Order: sequence, then structure tokens, then C-alpha cells
Amino acid sequence: MKFPDMPYQRADVGAVVDTYNAEIARMRSASDADAVAACYDKLTDAYVEWSTMASLASTRNSIDTTDPFYKEENAYYDENAPVVEELRNRMWRALTESPHRTALEQRLGTLFFVNADLAVRGMNEQAVPFMQQINKLSTRYGDLIASAQIEFDGKQLNLPGLGYYMQLPDRATRKRAFEAKSQWFARNTDELDDIYDQLVKLRTDMAHTLGYQDFVELGYVLMGRNCYDATAVDGFRRQVKRDLVPYVAALQQRRAERIGISDPKAYDAGLYFKQGNPTPIGTPDEIFDNGGVMYGKLSEATREFYDFMRGGELFDCLTKPGKRGGGYCTTFPKYGTPFIFANFNGTTGDIDVLTHECGHALAAYLSRDMYPYDLRHPTMESCEIHSMGMEFFTAPYMDLFFGDRADDFRTMQQESALVFIPYGTMVDEYQHIIYSNPSLTPKERKAAWLDLERQYRPWLDFDGDAFYGSGGWWQQQMHIYEVPFYYIDYCLAQHVALQFNALRLKDASDAWQRYLALVRKGGSKTFVELVGEAGLQSPFVDGAFGLILG
Ligand code: ZN
Repeated sequence: MKFPDMPYQRADVGAVVDTYNAEIARMRSASDADAVAACYDKLTDAYVEWSTMASLASTRNSIDTTDPFYKEENAYYDENAPVVEELRNRMWRALTESPHRTALEQRLGTLFFVNADLAVRGMNEQAVPFMQQINKLSTRYGDLIASAQIEFDGKQLNLPGLGYYMQLPDRATRKRAFEAKSQWFARNTDELDDIYDQLVKLRTDMAHTLGYQDFVELGYVLMGRNCYDATAVDGFRRQVKRDLVPYVAALQQRRAERIGISDPKAYDAGLYFKQGNPTPIGTPDEIFDNGGVMYGKLSEATREFYDFMRGGELFDCLTKPGKRGGGYCTTFPKYGTPFIFANFNGTTGDIDVLTHECGHALAAYLSRDMYPYDLRHPTMESCEIHSMGMEFFTAPYMDLFFGDRADDFRTMQQESALVFIPYGTMVDEYQHIIYSNPSLTPKERKAAWLDLERQYRPWLDFDGDAFYGSGGWWQQQMHIYEVPFYYIDYCLAQHVALQFNALRLKDASDAWQRYLALVRKGGSKTFVELVGEAGLQSPFVDGAFGLILG
């Protein structure tokens, strides 16, 4: 079915409540596992209907924010989302407490129940008031960042718009853009400190209320971590500091030489080549057609997937008046389709839509009929293997998009993947420090960040900048405010994607088959199992960086 033809009808929250109440009661009094599973199937149908309609409303609203119909529909789902979340939680509770659990585990899988236990442990009705306040503060952060209007070269820019200037070949321009950004944050840092302080305290109080020692414990539960704990993550971070940081420091030195700079500063970090970073060639239509050439050559599975996406008009990537910014991949489970939303702007980001977001979409496409529904998608770090892995598997076809600068693109891709990991790991360690010590003052928090800068990015020289130099960088990282502990996921996934890439360079066909097999497993396995079954090494095993650094 084509996206424009997908029928939309508001999913009535009252009907959802009635269905859940009735089926949960039936589940609790069911005489055998079959009867419980039948209730779960009915609840899945109700949830698929609800989330498909919510997703259609949200997507159509982001495509045209001036359309009053979908604006109102979208607000309806936002308002009622906590109600549905609470119903889902009661369903998990009924399933995990079922006297037929053993038989159900055989039918739905033990991992299904591991995840259900985590869902139960992460929430109850006492958490709801905390979550409402946390959501409000997260929105306040998002609104403040989105409201930034910075005058630059006679234009009014937002923060992503300013980012463009920080990777231009002219050093003075990069420096001015860097300073303009820093000054905006310096002006808003007190408010950003205040929002974060309230978030840390609310999350800590919520953790105590739910019986946890601190929000680190609860944070892991909320991320659905089903196969590793904080100790394993700590071990990964130690490896990053010991094995990767010195390697990236040398890489940064080589990059500085390549761009002809003897005293590299923070505002030189975005430039990879003296003549400028590679940019995609061709019109959006040509880019999409070349996407077809690329996915046709890569494999039969990707050819079929890409034809499905284009045939169903499942991309909306051109910038238009009234369209929301940013990009994402979503799904309409009732209609069995993924959907990709983006705003092409002529940078390498446009090609990321065709590689990274398509990696997510391929996973959604391949798992669209998997049973049970709640095992279609793995945890976040594994979802990012789908996308970050695809970025590397499509690397051989980059001549289609970058012409004679395809090699430059591949160099930049490999280097930026490695440079990212220390930063991402630092974001993770910062949050462990913050939530283990929730009474730190804003000043102490910034000092903690600055200390981490020295450990993870010793090469970064802020050139005397007052805001960055006093440890303020983290305030621009949305995840720290809005999705705590969701960041190490990117680092773990990047490690696995880099292993796939090393394998691809030796034997492309074997590497691709292993990747595709991993994607096809959806969420039926944990991260550690998925990686192991692909014949790769867990990033948690000591020495794991030897594999990707050679
Ligand atoms: Zn992603």
C-alpha cells in the first residue's frame, strides 16, 4: 500500500482501555497457556492499531505542520500515550505473574519474558507523576535548543544551520561559527543547568520511590538492558581509554597535517580535507535513482526492499515549507511498512538517509511478520548495528554519490566512526558520575565533564573559549537531558559495525550474509547473542579493540 493511500482513523483510547481491561482480566483467570497467548494476541492487535494510527498522525503532522487536522490528531496521541503505556505495563505484569509462565515461555520465548520482567520493574503507577514532570522538562530543553536564533553572516541560523559553517575549509569562518555557538550556550547555560538539575533530582527521586539505590540502576532497566550491566560497560570504557584514545589522538594529528594546520583547535575538528569535505552530487531524484542502483547491486534482499520503499512512496526527504526539521525512520505496523522522513540539504547527511536510515528500515521490513510482535525489534544498541552496519556495507557504492571524491568519503567515514567512540563513551561515563552523585552542583558537574575531556579527548584544544573551557560541552547533547544512558548504545554498535567492515574488506559476501542473518533475527536474541552468532566479538571482551584497529 502506498503511503498517501494508507487509511487513517483515530484509534479511540476509550476502546483501547476497554480491550485491555477485558483481556487482562481474561489473562489472569485463563485456564491454560493457549488462552493467555490468545489474550496477548488480541492486545497486540489493539496496540498495532493504536501505534499505526499514532505514527501516521505524527508523520503526516511532521510533513505538513500547517495542516490543522493531523496537528490535532497528533496532540491526541501525545496526550493519551501515558494511558496506553500504563495499560501495557499492566499487561506485562499479568504475563509475568501468570501461573502458566513456563508453558508461555516455550511459546513466546524466554527473552520475551526477560524483557517483560524489565518492563514491569521499570514502571508502576507511582512513577507516573515523576514521568510527567520529566517529560515537561525534556520538552523545555528541546524547545530552548530549537528556539536558538543566531545571527551569522547576515542570516538568522538555528544550531544545526550553524554546524554547516564549522566544517568549511576557511578556518576563520569555522572559528566564528564555533564562537557564535559557544556564546549562545554561554547566554543560556544557567537555564540549561537549572533544567538538568531538576531532571537529575526527579529521576533520582523516582528511582528511590521505585526501590532502587539510584537512577543508574533504574536507567539500565528503562533502557531494557537484558544482557549486560554497568560493570561490563565500565570495562568497555576502560578499553576505550587504554586502547582507542591514543590511536585516535594519532589519527587527529594526521588529519591536522592533511588539512595543513599545525596547531589544531576544537573548531578544526569537523574538517577532513583541505579542499573541504566531500559533498553529494546530483539532484534528489538522481540520488534516489542511484540508491536503486546501489541496493540492486548489494543483494537481492536489498533490491526487493528498496523497490518496496520507493513503490510505496515510503520516503519523504525533500525540504518543503511547513515541514518539520530533522529526520527519522518510523513504521506503520498495521500496513507492514517502514517510513523514512528527512530534509535533504546537500550535505553528506543526505546520503546517510539512504544508508543509515535505510538500515533501520530494512530491519523493520524484514521483521514485519515476526511473532511475537514484541520481539521484532532488539534493544537500541542492536538496532544501531542495522543502521551503522549498512553505512559500511554501502561504502563500495559511494562513487555513485561522491564521484571522484568517493575515496575521501570512505576515509572520512572510517575516521569519524573511530573518533566518535571516545566522545560517546565520555557521554556515558558522565551520566554514571552524575546519577551516582545526584547532589553535585552545576559547577561541580561541569568540572566532572572537563576532567573527562582530558581523559577521552586530550587532543581537543578549546582555544581559550570560556564556555567549552569550563566544561559546558555536554549541554548541547540532547540525549543527556532526554534519554539518559542511551548513548553507549551507539558506541557498542559502532564497534560491531567496524568489525563488520573489517570482515567486509576481507570477504564481502561472507560479511554481508552474516549481517543479513543478524538483521533477520530482529529482537529474538540479545545484543551479546546477536554479535556472537554473527561470529563477531563482544565489545565487552578485553582486547576487543585489537580487532578494529588492526
Ligand atoms: Zn540510527
